[in-house]
Amino acid sequence: MEATVRLSRPVLQLTLALVKPDAVAHPLILQAIHQKILENDFIIVTNRDLTWSREASQTFYSQHSGRFFYQRLVEFMSSGPLRAYILAHEDAIRHWRKIMGPTQVCRARYTAPHTIRGSYGLTDTRNSTHGSDCPESASRELATFFPEFSEGAWAASGHSRGDFLYH
Ligand code: ADP
Repeated sequence: MEATVRLSRPVLQLTLALVKPDAVAHPLILQAIHQKILENDFIIVTNRDLTWSREASQTFYSQHSGRFFYQRLVEFMSSGPLRAYILAHEDAIRHWRKIMGPTQVCRARYTAPHTIRGSYGLTDTRNSTHGSDCPESASRELATFFPEFSEGAWAASGHSRGDFLYH
């Protein structure tokens, strides 16, 4: 009797990754971050370049309103172009956050120098990248940046790249 080998497919999770204005402003850093995404086996489901209005930045970071860095963060995030990615991987949220490194740049430099923030972060605010912090945030953030994207259609498509986007 022929043996049947069943290869189980990994369960892919989606996350939103943003490259912040400090990193987009430097083409070599933007390229290095893109390379990190590829080297770490993410599927780039899609990506988009855009510039935020002040209002969009305020809304996105409203959970931090009232904190000492909020105004600075809002100004910075609407100060120049961003790149947004939908990334897919097993445990994508945790995987991407590990590759980004700690929020605060000194901590990143000294404890995780090979992470994106450890390598390229400039200050605690200008720290190169953002990543969703839980599945609920990921769904909300994907919808903010890619309103035409359907997680359900993507899953039903067999996790392909890009071609499930309906305009
Ligand atoms: P993360 O981006 O690592 O998930 P948070 O959600 O706590 O971190 O913060 C959102 C963003 O706010 C950070 O990426 C950073 O740009 C900014 N920020 C957070 N903490 C500080 C701080 N102590 N000083 C200045 N900016 C900060």
